[in-house]
Amino acid sequence: MIHQSEIHSILDDYDQKRITIATIGSHTALQILKGARDEGFKNMVICKEGTEDLYRQFGLADEVLTIKKYTQVLEKTFQERLIAQNAILIPHGSFVEYLSPIKIENELAVPMFGNRKVLGWESDRGKEREWMERAELKLPREFKDPKDIDRLVIVKFPGAKGGKGYILASNPYEFEQKHKELELSDKEKFTLQEYVIGTRFYPHYFYSPLKDRVELLSMDIRYESNIDGIARLSYILQDSHPEPSFVVTGNLPVVIRESLLPRVLEMGQKVIGTSRELFSPGVIGPFCIETVCTEDLEFIAFEISARIVAGTNLYINGSPYSQLLYQEPMSTGRRIAREIKEALKEQSLSEVIY
Ligand code: ATP
Repeated sequence: MIHQSEIHSILDDYDQKRITIATIGSHTALQILKGARDEGFKNMVICKEGTEDLYRQFGLADEVLTIKKYTQVLEKTFQERLIAQNAILIPHGSFVEYLSPIKIENELAVPMFGNRKVLGWESDRGKEREWMERAELKLPREFKDPKDIDRLVIVKFPGAKGGKGYILASNPYEFEQKHKELELSDKEKFTLQEYVIGTRFYPHYFYSPLKDRVELLSMDIRYESNIDGIARLSYILQDSHPEPSFVVTGNLPVVIRESLLPRVLEMGQKVIGTSRELFSPGVIGPFCIETVCTEDLEFIAFEISARIVAGTNLYINGSPYSQLLYQEPMSTGRRIAREIKEALKEQSLSEVIY
């Protein structure tokens, strides 16, 4: 892992009046670019060949760089170029996936918004569960042995990206059948997690170390294929439906019952408090807790994303919650740029960068 002091010494040489906010062209890049511009920063988008037209069309970027493959970002000369432009990189879901958490930790010397120590905690299912348990979140039950399956479980394979390739099973026999069909080796690791029935809520938080405050900026429900399609036909398909999959295809806006808001905020605060104990200084900036709210109005959490999530794209002009906090269009992308701006003003940029 590149040490924090190394990144901070690069940051010390930056011309603070000429900071460029940069990200990879995918996921939440449009929002990040607009947010940077709204806060008065120069911005840059790094696009894979063939995607640059989209970013040019919206006219939100001061500079559009084209690369042949994403890993080019890790090349020494490319990094030197970014550093020469006083670039601060904003990580997002695709950014982390394309470059890989390990390579970001060990090879990316360009200053990045947030705390890169979080990558190891959110990409390892065991460590992530430990974090959630310590934050006293309620979690779905997990079964160590398929023989113990006594209710509907979702089987999560490590390689399954965005819920593709997950299977459901209600008993050991069903699990064995489906597992056999997948023709996986016995060594392939999987997690057997109780499938929680309820309403999914994905609250989008922002932790500001400068204000020492957890803000609830917005919330979404992921729209997933084919499970959401099957739901529409459930009474016709009955037992003959295809194996459900959970591939995110879009996001739906949602607000939550106001009486549930205190608990939503409390969960965010606990996740931040625990992150400080586990990997100081903990999460910095945006994060999301993926939850299901049951009929008993209990939140069961099954994942933490410790970076900007794609559901925030619904709120490029702000959400009902961010409007109450800011009385101006405040997306998560803009909130990141605002934190960098405030940190520059207070001469504490290193507090929000690693
Ligand atoms: P991503 O990294 O994009 O968040 P992932 O591969 O980590 O995706 P999950 O987020 O764990 O996958 O799950 C994908 C989807 O599967 C969720 O959005 C949710 O709809 C469903 N899901 C996951 N775990 C559970 C659970 N325990 N109970 C009910 N539904 C679940």
